[in-house]
Amino acid sequence: MAKGDVVDRAEGFLKKNLETMPQKKRTEYQNQKLRGIVLYAYKNSVAFRNKMDSARLKPRDIQTIKDLEKIPITKKTDLMELQQKNPPFGGFEGVPVTEMRRIFISPGPIYEPGEADYDELGWAQGMYAGGFRPGDIVINTFSYHMVPFALQMVDNSLHMIGCISIPTGVGNTEQQVNILKSFKATGYCGTPSFLLNIAEKAEEMGLDLKEDLSLKAGFVAAEMLPESLRSKLEEKFGMIIRQTYGTADIRCLGYECMKKNGMHIPDDKIVEIIDPETGKQLGPGKIGEIVATTFNKTYPLIRFGTGDLSILSETPCPCGRTSPRLIKIMGRVDQATKVRGLFIHPGQVNEVASRYPQVANYQIVIKRKEDKDEMIFRIELQEEVRQPEKLKQEIEQSIRDVMKVRGDVQFIPKGTLPEGAKKIEDQRTWE
Ligand SMILES: [Zn+2]
Repeated sequence: MAKGDVVDRAEGFLKKNLETMPQKKRTEYQNQKLRGIVLYAYKNSVAFRNKMDSARLKPRDIQTIKDLEKIPITKKTDLMELQQKNPPFGGFEGVPVTEMRRIFISPGPIYEPGEADYDELGWAQGMYAGGFRPGDIVINTFSYHMVPFALQMVDNSLHMIGCISIPTGVGNTEQQVNILKSFKATGYCGTPSFLLNIAEKAEEMGLDLKEDLSLKAGFVAAEMLPESLRSKLEEKFGMIIRQTYGTADIRCLGYECMKKNGMHIPDDKIVEIIDPETGKQLGPGKIGEIVATTFNKTYPLIRFGTGDLSILSETPCPCGRTSPRLIKIMGRVDQATKVRGLFIHPGQVNEVASRYPQVANYQIVIKRKEDKDEMIFRIELQEEVRQPEKLKQEIEQSIRDVMKVRGDVQFIPKGTLPEGAKKIEDQRTWE
């Protein structure tokens, strides 16, 4: 327990009966849920029915998790393609739009049916496992506009536990510090690098992070969390930091408990680790793509390929939760990668470059500097330009417009980039 904290944040469960089910019971529980959602989605989601029909499958063919192998995997690119053909949701929605409380838009763009009623357990289970307790006052620094994470998922989940959320959103570091201080806030939701920004700002303002602030639990996502950064933040604030993993489309897919033993898969999600080439399940211990199935009736994605690589573990966790765990995220199946929590695709890099006829050759390099992602757009020009500084600024603005992430432009001599160089070169290491 952290110094001065009277709350026991280490023990207990949000939904004990679900989180501690014996393995056999869990499989039965999930198979039953799976049959239900397959039947529901077949009736209510045009995209899913088409997928089943094209594979000559009927709902009765899917009885168990193993049977999922018969269903072709849906990728993010399929979502975008089908949404263009059949706007706005590509037929993936499971309820009429009039029944949705909200609609979200993620980069791509991908249109996401919001909830009818938010009842997803994953993130709330994760927050509880990570030390959040009823009565915690929490700043939620994820972005609230357009994308679903902050408003729909984090905010609703805090409410499910009985926490009080302050929707601070991104940026305004100094104001965030003042808010933390005024409310003696005990919880933080956001990226690890932004928490580091807050720590630096608070120190700059002459505050003692442990004495003047009251943070006890942090729930971080959307970026890698190297152990060095975690322990640095935990020590600075005297708080617990646990990470979670998921996507906007399929929501929570894993969360850490106090034992830091990989990420527990929520009880209302089926996660397969598959061979990306064959689509077959690999079982525990083998690296493969994370493919997930949700029981969400508003947006019933079945066998959604995340493109992320991980390894599954079924060995018992000393925390008492019986769910299998994802042993860290190992990288991307394809070239797309995340920078400061947002996906960037080679297509976006091409899009930026195509706006400037002066550009001959280019590559994005992603680095890690002082625990923050850094994106450098290396460019070879056709010929010398008269005002390179002006061009640099214009391209940097286009990067922000197209990729939604800040990047630095660096002009390099012609012929520097090797032939066939990757459009996105990820040089980050995670020690
Ligand atoms: Zn555990």
